[in-house]
Amino acid sequence: MEAFAEIAPQPRVYIETYGCQMNVADSQTVRAVMRQAGFRSTEQAEDADVILLNTCAIREHAEERVLKRLSELAGLKRRRPEVRLGLLGCMAQHNRASIVEKAPWLDLVAGPDSYRRLPELIGRAGFDSAVDVALDRAETYADIAPEHQEGVRAYVTAMRGCDKFCAFCVVPYVRGRERSVPADAVIREVTALAARGVKEVVLLGQTVNAYRFGEIDFGGLIRMVAAVGGIERIRFTSPHPGDMSESVIEAMATEPKVQPYLHLPVQSGSNRILAAMDRGYTVEHYLDLVSRLRKTIPGLALSTDIIVGFHGEEESDFDSTLALMKAVRYDSAFSFKYSLRAHTRAFKLGDTVNEVEKGRRIAEVIALQEQISAERNRALVGAKFEVLVEGPARRGNGMLSGKTPQFKTAIFPVRPEIAAGDTIAVRVESATGHSLTCSLPL
Ligand code: SAM
Ligand code: SF4
Repeated sequence: MEAFAEIAPQPRVYIETYGCQMNVADSQTVRAVMRQAGFRSTEQAEDADVILLNTCAIREHAEERVLKRLSELAGLKRRRPEVRLGLLGCMAQHNRASIVEKAPWLDLVAGPDSYRRLPELIGRAGFDSAVDVALDRAETYADIAPEHQEGVRAYVTAMRGCDKFCAFCVVPYVRGRERSVPADAVIREVTALAARGVKEVVLLGQTVNAYRFGEIDFGGLIRMVAAVGGIERIRFTSPHPGDMSESVIEAMATEPKVQPYLHLPVQSGSNRILAAMDRGYTVEHYLDLVSRLRKTIPGLALSTDIIVGFHGEEESDFDSTLALMKAVRYDSAFSFKYSLRAHTRAFKLGDTVNEVEKGRRIAEVIALQEQISAERNRALVGAKFEVLVEGPARRGNGMLSGKTPQFKTAIFPVRPEIAAGDTIAVRVESATGHSLTCSLPL
């Protein structure tokens, strides 16, 4: 870092983030570490002295995107060799030293538990790349206050890592073992966010509902967050169906700040495939959980993740997935073509469904979900919702946007008295599968 200060007295760092919300939150921690070390942030890679890509390894496609970006940045390195280029996150952990062979112009490679040491790694990076991919069972970055972006909603890490080892998934290998952020650190962060005007917090973790810190389980943590003044809405993602305890359901049902929306990844509607995936539940368990949740939490919206074409998925298994989607009628769903990942248990089993077939199956899932989402949203025409105002709607047209308690995007007319952070009542006038167009009742 000292050596680096000679090149640029006020060095600038540019961070590009790929993948899930956990990575977005991690980039905010990285920004804080870099600021403490004397770096200012820039939004332009061209202006930066240090360029960091915080990457995702969940599917091959995610890694291909980053490799493409690395080749583009090779050009920048040729023009400005003094720039330090670093690869962070899950892909750094997954590919370790081999990534330096593929992209020898990389100066440093740092896994998700190495961010504290980034300034030191940057200082060390010179002729050889500095690589630090040690996983640390205890690292939670609890003492580092992440640099959150402006906005009415903020994402707060409650748990890191994952112990579930689903057969298809690389997360436990690249993010390490499950660990909970101390509850007082979570509350300190949420309190600071509330003081800045944040109204909604989303608690994050790969299996966030498995949270445990001493005697405090996830239901307990939710109640502690709900006690923070100024915070009006609480959400969390992603819960694992197997960890959806009575305590969590009870906290959702009885704590008014917890919003009636749950992303509950199912992955498949076939018991045979769920067992092969090692998900730890059956379709019957899952459907029973859904019906208990819907009974206990009125107006609950549900979304999910679905993988098509996992090893051994036959047409009949795929039909069971479509049947489950029809039975649950999710509000929305994210679907993925199975991607073989090194290190996972399913890797050695190989692929049994070809790309064309995976393409056909995912297209069917998407078409079915579009139809269900549109039907569910159209059924809301005439209903009233409380919306937390976020700002101008993406497509503009003099409209504002915000989220309903069910996390649906509501679009409504601008009024001079309405500002971001307000909660207002809207009435749904029309709907698509993706948004609700609303009026403002007087
Ligand atoms: N922890 C969450 C859970 O258990 O559901 C999700 C973690 S992962 C970042 C998000 C989603 O990516 C998973 O729910 C799964 O649908 C998908 N995914 C994970 N590994 C995959 C793979 N090898 N191929 C395709 N999709 C995958
Ligand atoms: Fe991956 Fe399963 Fe852990 Fe989710 S629960 S992160 S899918 S191993």
